[in-house]
Amino acid sequence: MTEPIRTTCPYCGVGCGVLATPQDDGSVLIAGDPQHPANFGRLCSKGSALAETISLEGRQLVPMIDGVEASWSDALDAAAGRLRAIIDAHGPDAVALYGSGQLLTEDYYVANKLMKGFIGTANIDTNSRLCMASSVAGHKRAFGSDTVPGTYEDLELADLVVLVGSNLAWCHPVLYQRILAARDARPDLRIVVIDPRRTNCAETADLHLPIASDGDVALFAGLFAHLSNAGVLDARFIADHTTGISDALDAADDWTISRVAEATGLSTADVAMFFDMFTATERVVTVYSQGVNQSTSGTDKVNAILNCHLGTGRIGRPGMGPFSITGQPNAMGGREVGGLANMLAAHMEFDDADRVARFWNAPAIATKPGLKAVDMFDAIGDGRIKAVWIMATNPVVSLPDADAARKALADCDTVIVSDMFATTDTARMANIFLPAAGWGEKSGTVTNSERRISRQRAFRPLPGDARPDWWIICQIARRLGFSGFDYASPAEIFAEHAELSGFENRGSRDFDISALADRDYETLAPAQWPVPRSGRGATRFFGSGGFFTPDGKARILPLAPPPPKDRGPGQLILNTGRVRDHWHTMTRTGRTPRLSAHYAEPFAEIHPHDAERLSIRRTQLVRLENAYGTAIVRALVTDRQQKGSVFVPMHWTGETAVTGRANALLGPFTDPVSGQPALKMGRVSATPVDVA
Ligand code: SF4
Repeated sequence: MTEPIRTTCPYCGVGCGVLATPQDDGSVLIAGDPQHPANFGRLCSKGSALAETISLEGRQLVPMIDGVEASWSDALDAAAGRLRAIIDAHGPDAVALYGSGQLLTEDYYVANKLMKGFIGTANIDTNSRLCMASSVAGHKRAFGSDTVPGTYEDLELADLVVLVGSNLAWCHPVLYQRILAARDARPDLRIVVIDPRRTNCAETADLHLPIASDGDVALFAGLFAHLSNAGVLDARFIADHTTGISDALDAADDWTISRVAEATGLSTADVAMFFDMFTATERVVTVYSQGVNQSTSGTDKVNAILNCHLGTGRIGRPGMGPFSITGQPNAMGGREVGGLANMLAAHMEFDDADRVARFWNAPAIATKPGLKAVDMFDAIGDGRIKAVWIMATNPVVSLPDADAARKALADCDTVIVSDMFATTDTARMANIFLPAAGWGEKSGTVTNSERRISRQRAFRPLPGDARPDWWIICQIARRLGFSGFDYASPAEIFAEHAELSGFENRGSRDFDISALADRDYETLAPAQWPVPRSGRGATRFFGSGGFFTPDGKARILPLAPPPPKDRGPGQLILNTGRVRDHWHTMTRTGRTPRLSAHYAEPFAEIHPHDAERLSIRRTQLVRLENAYGTAIVRALVTDRQQKGSVFVPMHWTGETAVTGRANALLGPFTDPVSGQPALKMGRVSATPVDVA
């Protein structure tokens, strides 16, 4: 009998361990890994259906140049030749790479090394910009580093779990199952959900605050003032480990409960109840994800949450702390290797460029940040970037102003796409298509939301000519004339990545996994960083201070809630998000009918009051429209949605501009600090569509 192979789920940032057992008939049995510390054997609906998504049907398994199948040699020569010609004629900033939180750490590492170390541009960004960039920016402002302080276990040890802008029940189901199981065992664990929608989480919560869109800074500024007035700020922690308390309190001073209620659309009773619960509970974890991050005030929202934890010293100890949950399987790994345009490898800043250049022996290290995702596609659209290489992502569907992204690629001189499928809306626009290996076919590592590095392992042979992304990147790097890309395996890349994290005594920083360089890669067990050679690794950060700012103190920031944003005309505020059983643009989950049984088509959730006002009937098709685009979707009339707003899932795609592409309806508005797009707040008009 074939032994199960230990690997990791390719979907969300929970990072569940999976046992994959290949069968004689070519199928595979999937089960949760009982030994993996993220899930202890659990899987959600998406993870359970993985076996149904791995058929080779529809895969493009041979490279293509201008739509014609070609050999790897010709395709790699063509890709490298076009990149070289553009770099020589227009400089390194005329090329860009747009990656993905689906890439494995080893793929990400060599992509970053090629772009920032050898081509000499920081124009490498990722769809993780759409996912957690505001959390990264907030962490860096407060902690001096992009460090998630806690662990999943803290959510089970807490007496109060506050979910802000996070429908964990659908988007990170196994983590939510862990919280519910903890509450079953310990009924005094309470859950507060802060979300404009009455989500599944809200229905199981002790308190749901249906906050107005972008009301979070006001809510947490008010909470901060309330904590001060209630006398529960931790004077010793503040004095020993933070700066900025006076200015932050001054900024929050006016945010009385009644003013918070006015700014957030909540009742004063609900606001007061939440504030009292938070005030009275030491073991509190505040979990947040896209409802916080995907906003023009996303970074301020993050810091408003962090202020409350820093001011009370409720951080880095069992059962307490702020907790940013990443959306993608390797969003955290991308942060580790510098997959964002404003970071270097191993959590280093551009100040550390010389150190990275020494380690890589890099001839042309980038010394300043590159263009973030939305700006990158602007630059592609106006011709400043003349070649873009897109890996494992579908920006024509997922970026805001998605029609503009489509046009930018259509007008771009050279579009190279590495993907499993040549049929995505983005891959169809490729001049050069490079067939990439997928989940179960390639090996590497991913890091989940609690900083735990786990192996993904191949359990199937490479199909056709498909190759791992790291191999493709290294082949092109070598054709560009660069040395340092002659790895024989992902194990060698991982060892180099681990060495860099401790290079020249960087072990004093947060991200140090240098000890993993010595461990056997094939049998590598899940490991939570830091894993330094010095043996000073910690499960949690900051319980006793030790922040990564120059003076070792965290920054408590003065924050002002943002003025209302003008999103243009339109009757309804547009909110977007995920459904339970689909993932991103459905290139994988769309392959099994089982996962479409939950929701089979794109829809718009609309309140009965608005439906009546706009003459929209239940299940009728409705046209959502604004200056950016149009979508035609099914109306789901429900009081789960607030009056004056509409929710559309972000998964569906299509051949034409008139589809369920929710992000085609969102303008290119971004957070000024993080560059993360405001995917939760647009404006649309809604009209019924009469079908003859
Ligand atoms: Fe996969 Fe996330 Fe579901 Fe776990 S919770 S099985 S990582 S999709």
